[in-house]
Amino acid sequence: MNYPSLRSMTLVLLSFAFIACGDEQIHSCEFTMSIDSPDAESKSYFVEYLEKLNTNLGFQAFTYVGSRQEANSPIVIEKGLKERTLRERGQEFIGLGGFYPDYSQTSNVFKIIANGKTTTEVTNSMRLHFDHDFVMQNLVNNTEKLETAAAHEFGHGLGFDHIDNEIDVMYFEVSGKKDYDAHYANMRQFFVNRSCVN
Ligand SMILES: [Zn+2]
Repeated sequence: MNYPSLRSMTLVLLSFAFIACGDEQIHSCEFTMSIDSPDAESKSYFVEYLEKLNTNLGFQAFTYVGSRQEANSPIVIEKGLKERTLRERGQEFIGLGGFYPDYSQTSNVFKIIANGKTTTEVTNSMRLHFDHDFVMQNLVNNTEKLETAAAHEFGHGLGFDHIDNEIDVMYFEVSGKKDYDAHYANMRQFFVNRSCVN
């Protein structure tokens, strides 16, 4: 009869020690986007904006997919968002954005022991809403407020909070000149931190 040697017993104990303190997260790097809108113009604005974002980030972070079913991250351009949010919160919102990471622990115990770490798979997704009147008015008048609003809500979509600095895209108001370069660099950092890009 063979008994495990002291050395292999030590290895087993070490493995369990690593399970207790090791943690590895594997992130989904692609946001698959759908766009629900009452009209074609505002929809195509956001389809083009996704490409602009990808260009600024230097890689394909956002992919437009045709249907809501295929998308993990819906954009909804809706009539009366301002009025609805005004009623519910006493303040009007031209856009709303939220970040929704989903953490699921893998259950393969052999895999956990093999690399000495627990592995968590994280699916990142976002949900964005924009007020239709705001989008259309700023599209027709070709104002910069629309890009500010889009960049701002995508920021919330990556979990960014408001920043109390008027030039920052994450300032709570869209008016005035914004530092887009800094904002897109922060967005890129989100993906760098998750090993999606170097
Ligand atoms: Zn905001």
